[in-house]
Amino acid sequence: MTVEEVKALVRNVPDFPIKGIQFKDITTVLENPDGLRWMRDEIVSKYRGLGITKVVGIESRGFILAPAVAIELGVGFVPIRKPNKLPAETVSVTYTKEYGDDTIQIHQDALSPDDVVLIHDDILATGGSMDAAITLVKKLGVKKVYVNCAIELLGLHGREYLQGKAEDVYCLFGLTVDE
Ligand code: AMP
Repeated sequence: MTVEEVKALVRNVPDFPIKGIQFKDITTVLENPDGLRWMRDEIVSKYRGLGITKVVGIESRGFILAPAVAIELGVGFVPIRKPNKLPAETVSVTYTKEYGDDTIQIHQDALSPDDVVLIHDDILATGGSMDAAITLVKKLGVKKVYVNCAIELLGLHGREYLQGKAEDVYCLFGLTVDE
C-alpha cells in the first residue's frame, strides 16, 4: 500500500465528540488488512535496530498498535492508563487539557533506568497528552524516549511542543484538520 492509499482510508467525522472537532477515525484503516499491516510495518521498520526495550501505549487508542509493534520488535508492552485502573503501585502525572485537568498513570515497576522506550499513540494533536506521557516515563528514570503517533494533525504545533523532550518524534503521515 502507498501512504496516499492509507491516508484515504482515514475517516473524518465532523463534530465528534463535540461540535467543531474534526475527529480522525482510524478504525477504517484498522479494519482493512492491508492498512493495518502497513501501519504496523511502517512503525516497526522505523524503530528496528534502535535498541528499543519496551513499547508504551497510551490508553486507549494507543493500545491498538503498540502491542503489535512490541511483538515484532521482540520486546514487551507497557500500558499508560487513566486513574485507578492499574492494580499495583503507580506513578502519576496530571496535566491541563482544554476542558479541565487529566491524570495518567503507569506501574511504578514497569520500566527501569536501562530501558529505551518507544511511546505510541494514534494521533498527535496539540502534544499535551504525549508530553504528559514523556514526563511519566521519565519519572521512572529510563535511558531514552522515542515518540511515535500514527497520524499528526497539522497546524496544531504538537511536534514543536514536544521539541527537545524526546529523542525523536515520528508520525506515519500528517493530515490537515479538515482533510
Ligand atoms: P493532544 O493531547 O492534543 O495531542 O491530543 C491527542 C489525543 O487526543 C490522542 O490520544 C488522540 O487520540 C486524541 N485526539 C485529539 N484530537 C483528535 C482528533 N481530531 N481526532 C481523533 N482523536 C483526537
